[in-house]
Amino acid sequence: MEVLVRIKRFNPEKDEAPYWAEYKVQAQPSDRVLDLLNHIKWNIDGTLSYRRSCAHGICGSDAVVINGVNRLACRELVKNVGSRIEIEPIRGLPVIKDLIVDMEPFFAGYKAIHPFLIADDPPADGKERRQSPAERARFDDTTKCILCAACTTSCPIFWTNDVYVGPAAIVNAHRFIFDSRDRGASIRLDVLNSQAGVWR
Ligand code: SF4
Repeated sequence: MEVLVRIKRFNPEKDEAPYWAEYKVQAQPSDRVLDLLNHIKWNIDGTLSYRRSCAHGICGSDAVVINGVNRLACRELVKNVGSRIEIEPIRGLPVIKDLIVDMEPFFAGYKAIHPFLIADDPPADGKERRQSPAERARFDDTTKCILCAACTTSCPIFWTNDVYVGPAAIVNAHRFIFDSRDRGASIRLDVLNSQAGVWR
């Protein structure tokens, strides 16, 4: 099938404003949007810039806006998005070039909640901080965040308020607050409580 791929492009070194570039690509319904980006870069226009790494939904590098919705380009199949595909950089972060954004404001929110185990008391047996399967299960879901920023950059508050840490930071705060080995809950809750006025 022929797919029309429209990509919002911007090179700050030569463009005054972002513009839509169009590419016609032959694709299989089972191709991923990332395959189309790779095809365009490797065969049509090598100046196209975007992030990718594992290409299997693990690294979180290739979050983009596809037909108006934040998605990972490596997880989205052509058959699910149709024969006219619009791809834009995720919103609320400065565009460095084409689909590549500056992730620093996103990671600033992540760092604010202290995303590491805080435990200055000695382990009970002097060696290991043991945890039961049930205790581990309490925060299992929130260990799965791959820091793609798709959630945070789809939040309008994040677009306009540089104090708001965003949902990914809240997810990662949960990951440690509910960890039975961690002693830093009050530090993280102070950060989250300071956010309360952001959306009121
Ligand atoms: S919580 Fe947000 S940043 Fe983490 S994987 Fe989900 S969408 Fe991506």
